[in-house]
Amino acid sequence: MEYINTKNWLVRPAQLDEAIIQQAAAMIKKGGLVAFPTETVYGLGANGLDRKAVAAIYCAKGRPSDNPLILHVADTSMVKDLSRNLPDKASLLMRKFWPGPLTLVVPKAKHIPVEVTGGLDTVAVRMPDHPVALALIRASGLPIAAPSANQSGRPSPTKAEHVQADLQGRIDAILDGGPAGLGLESTVLDLTSKVPVILRPGGVTYEELKEVLGDVIIDPSVLGKKLPKDQVPRSPGMKYRHYAPTSPVILFEGEPHKIKTAITERAQALLAQGKKVGILATEEQAQGYPPQAKILKLGTRENPTTAAASLFSRLREFDQLHVDVILVEGIATTGIGLAIMNRLRRAAVEKFEC
Ligand code: AMP
Ligand code: MG
Repeated sequence: MEYINTKNWLVRPAQLDEAIIQQAAAMIKKGGLVAFPTETVYGLGANGLDRKAVAAIYCAKGRPSDNPLILHVADTSMVKDLSRNLPDKASLLMRKFWPGPLTLVVPKAKHIPVEVTGGLDTVAVRMPDHPVALALIRASGLPIAAPSANQSGRPSPTKAEHVQADLQGRIDAILDGGPAGLGLESTVLDLTSKVPVILRPGGVTYEELKEVLGDVIIDPSVLGKKLPKDQVPRSPGMKYRHYAPTSPVILFEGEPHKIKTAITERAQALLAQGKKVGILATEEQAQGYPPQAKILKLGTRENPTTAAASLFSRLREFDQLHVDVILVEGIATTGIGLAIMNRLRRAAVEKFEC
């Protein structure tokens, strides 16, 4: 791949520099790639109606071409042009949760390039809740296709420096607007079946959707269940290993005190073999692990939004500590915990029920 002189621009979300937004929008209109902050994670944006620009996203990220992209809009009226038949529930959900971390999968309009949808007959759309993202979409006047701005398979970027580490030299510009708020990606909800299906848990929780919709299903693969051999996943992204740091992740789930005992024993055994051990622990249980292990804190069990905000950043920090293995404490799968555990299960090479 040809080396690109990536521009790095600082933008203050509370006081946008209009000249920078205009330059970034001009790059998007010309078919370029611009990374930008959203309230979930950093996205890698391109003109969602330009085949070549969208193909360049896959190339820069090393993303498998059958893993479709989300189109980002700046207001709900933009969605009408992107779907040939907007389901009734879409309006209700847009009113309730947009701008915000909820992506809706709806029947696609004809003119959306096959490169965006990975050949599916549906398209995923979302309105982000971030002043920089919204300003960029408005200034370009286009739906912006934007997956997370990381090398495919790596933890999603929650800071501009993560984007630089993965994509500097491969994309046109990075808008640095400080840390992304939530730290996890959007919830992907399929509205093309009678009962909506959560294809990926994220910022808007199952409980919140259930309250608004009454009926909502969680796709079995979200819960880590294997699909029957003859069945393909409804969201192509779910078949790939994802969110993984370089060092292997071993995940321990179950009762917190049993998790602590199991991780301690495993850490002692690995340390005895001369391995460099990392432990990702909740604040409540971080004390008392073997002192030779590198311990990073995930956040609290009591308030899992703190764990969501730090998860991807901590996984990248372990790479810098060059540990041989990362032992991770699992948390409860209620609320945002479902999204956190979905990412950890996907990142893990080994899982234990304690
Ligand atoms: P990312 O862009 O990395 O946040 O990933 C986007 C997620 O949305 C992936 O898991 C995709 O598989 C999923 N997705 C995008 N478009 C569709 C679609 N039309 N149908 C089902 N899932 C989709
Ligand atoms: Mg991603």
